[in-house]
Amino acid sequence: MSRIAIIGAGISGLTVAKSLMDSHEITVYEKSETAGGLAQSVKADGCVFHICGANSMKNISEKTQKFIEGIIDFGDEIIELKRNSAILFENGEVSKPEFHGMFKKKMTEIEGVPSPIENHIYMFKPEIQKRIIADIFRVKNREKNKRTPKFLATYFKAKFGQTLYDMYFGPYNEKVWHSDLRKIPLRWLEGRLSAPTADQMIFANFNHDKSKFLCEKTFLYDINGGAQRLVNRLVEILGDRLRLNHAVECIEHSGGKWIVDGEKYDQIVYCANLKLLPKILHINEIKPFGSYIDSLKYHGTTSVFCELSKNPYTEIYLPGKEHRAHKIICTGNFADTNNNDTHKMTGTVEFTDYVSEDEIKEELSRMPLNPIYITHRYTEYTHAIQDIDTHETVEKIKSTLRPMGFYMTGLFAEWVQYNVNQAINAAINTVESMHNELNI
Ligand SMILES: Cc1cc2nc3c(=O)[nH]c(=O)nc-3n(C[C@H](O)[C@H](O)[C@H](O)COP(=O)(O)OP(=O)(O)OC[C@H]3O[C@@H](n4cnc5c(N)ncnc54)[C@H](O)[C@@H]3O)c2cc1C
Repeated sequence: MSRIAIIGAGISGLTVAKSLMDSHEITVYEKSETAGGLAQSVKADGCVFHICGANSMKNISEKTQKFIEGIIDFGDEIIELKRNSAILFENGEVSKPEFHGMFKKKMTEIEGVPSPIENHIYMFKPEIQKRIIADIFRVKNREKNKRTPKFLATYFKAKFGQTLYDMYFGPYNEKVWHSDLRKIPLRWLEGRLSAPTADQMIFANFNHDKSKFLCEKTFLYDINGGAQRLVNRLVEILGDRLRLNHAVECIEHSGGKWIVDGEKYDQIVYCANLKLLPKILHINEIKPFGSYIDSLKYHGTTSVFCELSKNPYTEIYLPGKEHRAHKIICTGNFADTNNNDTHKMTGTVEFTDYVSEDEIKEELSRMPLNPIYITHRYTEYTHAIQDIDTHETVEKIKSTLRPMGFYMTGLFAEWVQYNVNQAINAAINTVESMHNELNI
């Protein structure tokens, strides 16, 4: 039996802890007063507020499903919802809006098309349609050369053409990531992007097919506050193995043992933030990576919980410059239990980086769905932005530390763009490799 320290009690650290606790002596350190990290939801005015994102589960793997089923009842409480999202345009680009007038707001008529945009080209003004059609022929020509683009900007342009890039893919993604899409490697969002062929786009538009070729067509949602029920149950199972309000400040390695803030362990699973490592990990092996880790870029999120006008959507995307927010997640439509009698329809307006309460309220006053402010949260670390060297460098750090019994898994530990399913999967894989490599 090994003594193992797990650092960070987000969904990754909790998964590692649950997977190791029966055969090892484990301690989980969490700097906050609550576990769950980015996957948490809280009650605000009696309604469910996802403090960061929606934490619905997409493309769930068998491994993740088995893990969750071992902890909570999948049964009636985890429901499968159909994605019904829309993209709003405010400059007269749309000729046949599906919900004409629904988003009427002051002087502007806000119109939109359902997502995915590439299946609804027929809804744009004729002159825009003509440009997109010409683009699709170029896309089809490019498909003959099988080279996969390396960066997000080149990927979107190669897949959807310049017009859709300028109208949606470029401005929307730049708003979310606050980054130059020409420098973000494609592998960062691998498996998360829809990738229809030119023929599939043409077919979908001829047939007005709303759902075909949509990546993440449905999603799973736990009606008890999303991933929070899973977090609560894991916290219960871990009991006093979980140390809340303990930000790890010093990790040393001596005599073949790891020392975490003065306590000895055989192994460490690091599920916190890579940026912290050069400061808290006092070993020579991390030093060559210090300046690269320092240079890594990231962004935060301001999540604003609001009452919204009733609507049929799961998400509404806002690519335009008119609004600083990029998305409205209508969590009130995910489950009735997310609302209450006072706030009959609630949701989260998402802004990248810090936005003050005064600025939030000014922005809300100009937004569709008449959002009424309830509360908000700012989280400093939400988007780990990769550059072309990130994947390789993180792999080098992992393979340098792994033989010493120091493992890394998690969104900010690996500087990746995991969803909950991917974070759980990666955590299980990490535990599997520990078992194989250490024979523990
Ligand atoms: C805006 C947004 C929306 C999202 N929406 C969805 C969605 O709808 N569906 C989905 O599946 N996924 C979604 N995700 C992704 C999902 O939330 C994450 O993949 C997942 O929660 C990551 O968990 P983690 O444990 O790897 O990281 P985290 O949740 O970041 O956990 C890291 C933990 O380490 C702790 N920590 C840090 N430093 C220390 C220290 N020194 N000592 C001790 N503890 C420390 C932190 O407090 C934190 O609890 C979203 C993410 C974002 C940012």
